[in-house]
Amino acid sequence: MATTVERAAGALAPSRRIQQIGFSEIAKVREAIDALRGQGQKVFELHGGEPFFETPEAIKAAAGKALSENKTRYPPSAGIAPLRQALAKKLTSRNGIAASAESVVVTNGGIHGLFCSFQTMLDPGDEVLVFSPYWTPIRDLILLSGAKPVSVSTGTARKQGFGKTLAAHATPATKVIYFNTPQNPTGYVVSRREIEEVAAFARERDLAVIADEAYEDLVFEGEHVSIGSLPGMAERTLTMFTFSKSYSMTGWRVGYVSGPEAWMQHMIKLALYTTTGVNQAGQWAALRALESGAEELAARREEYRQRRDTMIAGLREAGFEIETPAGAFYAFPKIPGADRDSRAFARMLLQKARVSVVPGAVFGDEGEGHVRMTFSASPDVIRGAIEALKRL
Ligand code: PLP
Repeated sequence: MATTVERAAGALAPSRRIQQIGFSEIAKVREAIDALRGQGQKVFELHGGEPFFETPEAIKAAAGKALSENKTRYPPSAGIAPLRQALAKKLTSRNGIAASAESVVVTNGGIHGLFCSFQTMLDPGDEVLVFSPYWTPIRDLILLSGAKPVSVSTGTARKQGFGKTLAAHATPATKVIYFNTPQNPTGYVVSRREIEEVAAFARERDLAVIADEAYEDLVFEGEHVSIGSLPGMAERTLTMFTFSKSYSMTGWRVGYVSGPEAWMQHMIKLALYTTTGVNQAGQWAALRALESGAEELAARREEYRQRRDTMIAGLREAGFEIETPAGAFYAFPKIPGADRDSRAFARMLLQKARVSVVPGAVFGDEGEGHVRMTFSASPDVIRGAIEALKRL
């Protein structure tokens, strides 16, 4: 995970810490799409990471009610009490993570929860084991804490065992394992047996775990297991969740982290000094989201499953090799043919087929040779994209 950014020096230079951080390549994809649209071209957009539906009306109404009741002042930095209490109940009953209101902190989306988690646990020089391919910002969030991300291939772990593969990359400087399931970008849902291996390794080596469960409600086959629910793990795990994907609340910026109360004291300081907490209307909306019935989540999951099945069958017909993703809302097919440069392939797909995808290389070296496509798009867009890919 070497950085290739050239650094400015001198008193007027921005910090070395921020200079080693790059800009998101997904922004470049968006610019290329805008240029094509400017020329009147239609693009089949599969590069995104947003739910296909709008925020449900009842959730929006709860925010409106909060505003009309003047819930517009500074929020408590750890989150409003009713939301923290409701989250503790949800964590205990749905995730099997014994939680109290004091062990939950509400954050500005999942990414802020991850930022605060890494800042809480890491010192410069510490190493973090990161299963790769990984969600792109993870590397930068770790670098911002001064620590070093170390890639661990998920593909190798699946073949040779998670514990053995982690052991091959651990050093005396290893402090944390970043652990994401269901995974972005592959859609892989890590099995209970594999998660038990990761947990056993963390206990043996006395490591902390930062778990990312952004897609906990999007599992089509198998089960979602929270690593923090396994024996001996609650005391060493910070788990991040978000309202973004489950309730289509990407723009509201509400997420949360649960973990040992002793750590949460420090996390609250970070929440205070970075954002002073999450806007109150968003928190009341999130509280209403938690009251959504299980049937509502199940019905949406079923819609995603149908879109997934259309996309995967179509990709195979178009000549792509792909493992069916058991979770999240991304397909991560192999690039067909001998030239596996994912950036060049993504550019070609956009220019020739008008299909926008994300090059696999942006998700780490292990992502090269693949592209990411979301199936959180309308069935028409998915079918149109597949037809365009077949014509290539
Ligand atoms: N973790 C993963 C794996 C994600 O894919 C995302 C968003 O794409 C997040 C965390 C962050 O979600 P949020 O939108 O709540 O910041």
